Amino acid sequence: MSNEIKILMPACPKCGVSKKIPIPASVFTQKTFGLIKIQVPQGGCCEDHQFIVIADSEARIIGYEAIDMSVSKEEEQLPEMESEVKFPLKYLINKLGFNSVAGLIHAKLFKYDSFIIRSDEADISMEDLNEYFDLMIPEPYRNSIKIDTINFDSQIFPNPGYFYSLVANQRTRAFLFNPRKHIVQMPWRTNVYYETHIINYALERTDPKEQTKIISDSIGRFISDSELAKTILDAVKKISEKEFMKTLDEKLALTTINKYRMALINEFLRRRVSVDLLKKIKK
Ligand SMILES: [Zn+2]
Repeated sequence: MSNEIKILMPACPKCGVSKKIPIPASVFTQKTFGLIKIQVPQGGCCEDHQFIVIADSEARIIGYEAIDMSVSKEEEQLPEMESEVKFPLKYLINKLGFNSVAGLIHAKLFKYDSFIIRSDEADISMEDLNEYFDLMIPEPYRNSIKIDTINFDSQIFPNPGYFYSLVANQRTRAFLFNPRKHIVQMPWRTNVYYETHIINYALERTDPKEQTKIISDSIGRFISDSELAKTILDAVKKISEKEFMKTLDEKLALTTINKYRMALINEFLRRRVSVDLLKKIKK
C-alpha cells in the first residue's frame, strides 16, 4: 500500500476557522461505499472547538456534525434593526452555524434548493432569512431559490440520523442542515472556501449593512467574471481548459484565475447558464 495523503480543509462549524488537515488516503479507500466520519479535536482546526467532518470516499466534505454545541444555551436576542438588512452576520452564525451560513450563500448564488430540517418552531422568520441572502445576489439571479423547512417529528422518528438519511435520499441535489449546526448534505462538488473567505472578510465590519455590501460586492464581481467566461465560450467552438483559464486571467484585471476560481465559474455556468456550454472545454 502507498502512504498517499489526502488533504481535507474543513471549516469549524462554530467559528469558521479553516485549516488543511492531511489524512492518509487509506482512510478513504477502506470504505468503498458510504461516508467517512473524522473527528477533529479541539486545536485540530481552530483553537476552541471540536467537531466531526463527514466526507465521501473521494475525500469530498459533504457535511458536519457538531459536538457539545448545545452546552452554551444562552439565547441570543436579535438586536433592533433599522436598516433593510435583517440580521447582523454574527447573530446568524450563532443561530445556524458558520458552515450553514456559508452554505446558504453558496446555495443562493449557485441555485441549490435548501432546507432546514427542524423539529421545533423556527425562531427566525423564513421570509426574513430568504430576504437577507437574496439581498446579496444581484438581479437577474436574485430570488431564484427559496430556503425552506422540512419538519422532523421526533415522535415518529426517534432516530434523527435515520430521518436525515431519508431526506438526503429523496433530495439528493439539495443543501440540508439542521438548526443545531449539523450539515446533513452539501450537494455541490466544489466547496465553500470562497464563501468562508468573504464571510470572514465581512466580519471585520460590525454594521450589518456594510457586511452585506462586502459580500454582495464580491459576489457581483464573481458573477461578472462568470459572464465574461460565458462570452469567451460563446465565441469558440472548442477551447482547452488551460487556454480558457489563460484567456480569462488576461482579461480580468482584478481576479486571479486559479483552479479553484475556475471550478466555481464552471459551477456557475453549469447551474445558471448551460451545461452544454461547458462541453466546449477540452480537459
Ligand atoms: Zn471553532
